Amino acid sequence: MSYNIIDSHCHLDFKKFNKDREEAIERANLNGVTELINSGIDYKTNESSLKLSDKYPNIHATLGLSPMVASNSEDDVVDDILSHIEQNLETAVGIGEAGMDFYHCKNESEKDDQLQAFKNVVELADSFDKTLVIHGRDAEDKLLNLVQHLDNVVFHCYSGSIETMKKITGMGYYISIATLVCFSKHHQSLVRELPIDKMLLETDSPYLSPYRGKRNEPAFIVNSVDKIANILNTDASYIASKTAKNTHRVFGL
Ligand SMILES: [Zn+2]
Repeated sequence: MSYNIIDSHCHLDFKKFNKDREEAIERANLNGVTELINSGIDYKTNESSLKLSDKYPNIHATLGLSPMVASNSEDDVVDDILSHIEQNLETAVGIGEAGMDFYHCKNESEKDDQLQAFKNVVELADSFDKTLVIHGRDAEDKLLNLVQHLDNVVFHCYSGSIETMKKITGMGYYISIATLVCFSKHHQSLVRELPIDKMLLETDSPYLSPYRGKRNEPAFIVNSVDKIANILNTDASYIASKTAKNTHRVFGL
């Protein structure tokens, strides 16, 4: 293989990689995954994302506060995460994942907690001029409204409508396509309508494996590259280089 791929969103620090983290990174490199962005979701994983990026020159970190953490934690825990993010932003390439996940909310107060936390995250992204990585589910339009003043935004693992996707890219923001595209008809239809200059790729490892039931890992992103090349009737190398360039542009790598 002669092209470089970037996995723009994964969680290599998660427990599921405790037994073979080194090997998984090695397999990614061997499959042409030259850069990875590891995303934190709370204090502990932000800390471990920073450690990974410190240890491996081709792994970058984004520091996040995931919506489910925001709605399941006490206020002081959320505040601690936010100040930890702020203190470590210099060594991170972006903020996220953060957002709103109404699909998993049990009631209005959880939604409200997510909204308040997200507003604080957006303020951080704005004042430190950092790229924001959004986790959105059943809340994509609301999220877009809350970030329109930001310069660099990525909707990670985008699974919303084509219509909202067009609004997002129309504002200059990016859509990250997860390995779900290997089998999900909806994600395949998103790819057909997504301008190539706004497309990023990700595995969201250990989740969303193209091999159902198996753990996902960054090396499997080659399946997405092949699938998308096939859908768009183009070469895998074209998809890899375009999406790598987009990732560099939006994160300033
Ligand atoms: Zn994720």
